Amino acid sequence: MSGYAPPVQRLVTELSKLPGIGSRTAQRLAFHIMRAPAQDALALADAIREVKEKIRLCEVCFNLADQTRCTICQDTRRDRSAICVVEESSDVISIERTHEYHGLYHVLGGALSPMDGVDPDDIKIAELYARVQGSAPDSDEAVREIILATNPTTTGEATALHIAAELRARRPELTLTRLASGLPVGADLEYADEVTVGKALAGRRTV
Ligand SMILES: [Zn+2]
Repeated sequence: MSGYAPPVQRLVTELSKLPGIGSRTAQRLAFHIMRAPAQDALALADAIREVKEKIRLCEVCFNLADQTRCTICQDTRRDRSAICVVEESSDVISIERTHEYHGLYHVLGGALSPMDGVDPDDIKIAELYARVQGSAPDSDEAVREIILATNPTTTGEATALHIAAELRARRPELTLTRLASGLPVGADLEYADEVTVGKALAGRRTV
């Protein structure tokens, strides 16, 4: 892809790093950005800069937040007896869209995958145990149910089983549930529609 002025090449290269964006799409986006009014293009650049500067992880659940705690953890109307464990912040959005769940979350930041070198220490698993055992900020003795809502993929299932075994050893009285089948196997929660996710949540089963 020579022939572009270096700034154009740089933009195409950066855009092609985005997931699902091949080099042709990156070129199309780059040309769209170059044709766009300066204020629109700079608004995009500013939005990217702002999320990188202001967004951090909630100190309790590791969801994305613009303060020390996310809006869900700060919301006193949320049911503090349930924690829904998900892989990514985007999964929180998928579950919130269903309006079926009113408890808290715990965002692991990935799934266990020994083959890819992702071990328990690499995701926020110890932090989950600390929350249910009363040794974390805002840890909740009130928690009675942990919903293991990791993706129905090999790594997501392995992560749910691992966490279930560890939680059972630590707090045997906790109810541990897994989302019902109905979610497409191998799919990410992120891509399931809200009716499917809502049904999976409503029909969750004990593990
Ligand atoms: Zn939070």
